[in-house]
Amino acid sequence: MKKLLMAANWKMYKSVEEGVATAKELVSLLDKLPEDREVLVCPSFTMMHSVCPILTQKAGCHAGAQNFYPAAQGAFTGEVAPEQLMGLGCTHALAGHSERRHVLGEMDELIGRKVAFGLDAGLKMILCIGETIVERRLGQIEEVLTRQLESGLAGVLSTATAESLAVAYEPVWAIGTGEVAGPDEILAAHAFVRSKLESLLPKEGAHIRILYGGSVKPDNAATIIRLDNVDGVLVGGASLKADSFSQIVLA
Ligand code: PEP
Repeated sequence: MKKLLMAANWKMYKSVEEGVATAKELVSLLDKLPEDREVLVCPSFTMMHSVCPILTQKAGCHAGAQNFYPAAQGAFTGEVAPEQLMGLGCTHALAGHSERRHVLGEMDELIGRKVAFGLDAGLKMILCIGETIVERRLGQIEEVLTRQLESGLAGVLSTATAESLAVAYEPVWAIGTGEVAGPDEILAAHAFVRSKLESLLPKEGAHIRILYGGSVKPDNAATIIRLDNVDGVLVGGASLKADSFSQIVLA
């Protein structure tokens, strides 16, 4: 059974105490997590040590990193290595989130190296892709998604599995704006991503989970997760409160 992956990105929010309190509340609200759902929470590095054990005590609930540097160790001031994260109970990581691409200037090549290095190190990777509003208006959605998928997955074409890799389609214009993509827009983009995955990874492509991200809220989650080729969600703002994220997970 392909489980829905319901992922939370806490971004650069919360003190350690707030993270601990939210994680505890979330685990208790998800007491009856349905068999067909998995939960992933990606907190800041600062609270991994305290928050990961709370999350991972619950079956089906995982902790992930929002970022890492693709090296085992070394002189990379300010960076964090996969091994250091895995030592704290972190099992997953994001790569290519739109804020890292567009605010922090990460390029496709570095994102591809992160996906390859993370998978090789033993992390389950979620490659985030998505077009800006300008690219959408210029009719470049498929071109952008193709480039981001091809470069993001270049180093893992023979190693990635449906277990170790997921892709999150997050149109940049829908992230943190309250402007969710409509069902037709999501269906079209996810069908395109699916067809690209099937051609890039012929054995695994049909099974790799494709998450939708962009202003997912308790009142739209149920519709979104029932669309074809939507295998979960990646949630920012509405994941910060245990109550609203648990409603999304259980939608
Ligand atoms: C995100 O940060 O990946 C995201 C989708 O944010 P939001 O849910 O706030 O749009």
